[in-house]
Amino acid sequence: MKIYVIADMEGVSGVVSPEQTGGASWLYENARMQYTREIKAVCEAAISAGAEEIYVNDFHGNGLNLMPDALPREVMIIKGGFRPSSGYDLLDETFSGLVMLGIHARTGTYGGVLPHTYTGKMSFEIFGQPVGEFDVLALLAGEKKVPVILISGDSKALQQAGTSLPSTPGVITKYSIGTEGALCMHPDRVCELLRDETKRAIKIMSSIEPAQISGAIQLKVNVADVCLSSRIEWIPGLKRIDDTSFEFTGRNMKEIANLMYGCATLVEAKF
Ligand SMILES: [Zn+2]
Repeated sequence: MKIYVIADMEGVSGVVSPEQTGGASWLYENARMQYTREIKAVCEAAISAGAEEIYVNDFHGNGLNLMPDALPREVMIIKGGFRPSSGYDLLDETFSGLVMLGIHARTGTYGGVLPHTYTGKMSFEIFGQPVGEFDVLALLAGEKKVPVILISGDSKALQQAGTSLPSTPGVITKYSIGTEGALCMHPDRVCELLRDETKRAIKIMSSIEPAQISGAIQLKVNVADVCLSSRIEWIPGLKRIDDTSFEFTGRNMKEIANLMYGCATLVEAKF
């Protein structure tokens, strides 16, 4: 059995501020230790439940956050920044389940901890429904018939994910108080919960349906700032709707995900 873990830092226990998600500070060092511990808890539990191979995608920022020597030997780590298929590298039909660890709420979510969708300057909708990173990753996995078997993150992110992935077990790592504040559970407690829920998730995963979408997919792209919207015009296939929003039709989720990631990269680029 092969399990794929996509790990992000914003939804990890105790992480509430951008100072904890990057940079040269003890705050970041501390946060990446907990990030590693939570991934370790999931991997060890998955192995004890029968997983023979686990891919861990160090999905946050430059993809260099994880401390690999703390993880079990069965684990293969996907790391490094600016990957063209960031988030779903090497995810294929051979995996039995996807774990999304440390997720955060979508751009513009009131009360979510550090909410964003690749960037905080853009938001996205698929067929009129708001989507975040976890929605896109779940749909990409769904195209490969891989179900999302476990999600963890702040209470607001889990609330959003509960609507789009109703049968997936979840672990709340902290209760959102604001965009940079939360009531946090003890880090050891979160690791315990992740261990227990991973084992349970693997037991029931055959009953969890992969997320699915078929045919042409309609994406709406909203940019927070009209000055940034002129950059998005450079992308072929994007149709302007108004001053700050565009429409795109993709043939599959890979096209949609690449377009979203491309837009976010353009918007964030420093010229
Ligand atoms: Zn992140």
